[in-house]
Amino acid sequence: MWDLLELLLLSIGAVPFLVTATSGTTVLGAFDPLEAIADVCQRHGLWLHVDAAWGGSVLLSQTHRHLLAGIQRADSVAWNPHKLLTAGLQCSALLLRDTSNLLKRCHGSQASYLFQQDKFYDVALDTGDKVVQCGRRVDCLKLWLMWKAQGGQGLEQRVDQAFALARYLVEELKKREGFELVMEPEFVNVCFWFVPPSLRGKQGSPDYAERLAKVAPVLKERMVKEGSMMVGYQPHGTRGNFFRMVVANPALTQADMDFFLNELERLGQDL
Ligand SMILES: *Cc1c(COP(=O)(O)O)cnc(C)c1O
Repeated sequence: MWDLLELLLLSIGAVPFLVTATSGTTVLGAFDPLEAIADVCQRHGLWLHVDAAWGGSVLLSQTHRHLLAGIQRADSVAWNPHKLLTAGLQCSALLLRDTSNLLKRCHGSQASYLFQQDKFYDVALDTGDKVVQCGRRVDCLKLWLMWKAQGGQGLEQRVDQAFALARYLVEELKKREGFELVMEPEFVNVCFWFVPPSLRGKQGSPDYAERLAKVAPVLKERMVKEGSMMVGYQPHGTRGNFFRMVVANPALTQADMDFFLNELERLGQDL
């Protein structure tokens, strides 16, 4: 596939300068093959950016970090500890391989009334002139404090527990009539359709997909009005609306997963 992409770009005379790969896509939780992509970037001298906003925290797990193999070859990586690690919103990091003060060269405005260069300490410690914003919060402190409190092992445990709980949910869901997985999850996003009683066994009928797509919005309305759950849904490409249960909250238990499935069955029994 990557060879095809290269051929296509070269054949239309385009001059790409950047490739953005994703580690943990928002809906399906898919991981791009970073080693293969980095090979292409290396051959053509392209900047490799990895959007690891969602999946970057998997690096903390010895068991699951293979999903990001090759990320060490990226030129830049975006990572949101406010997602899987549950740091308070917001806490987003941009990690750069560059050591030439690229951000300062790009964003520095050298305002004479800010960030004086003739101070008594190492002015490289002043990060203000590296970013677009001027006034901003110390978001990294939340990550630092959380890391201190939990330790690397504590954070690893959170990630591993999320994977284990997502796996439990998938196995339980497979045992029940009326739940259909969109795909085997790679990550903690469990994407599935709830097939209500009136649609079971009707997979062959011409309006099946259209009717199935109307189920998730109805169930979402019911769960919100009941106040029992908040779980998102969306269409994706040619697939109609399906639920996306993201198992990330470290307080979740297997009992919550059971409740989730029971509650969907209860809310959808008359559909
Ligand atoms: C959440 C997410 C983003 C957006 O991150 P923000 O910090 O909220 O802007 C980008 N990419 C992926 C894959 C995401 O899941």
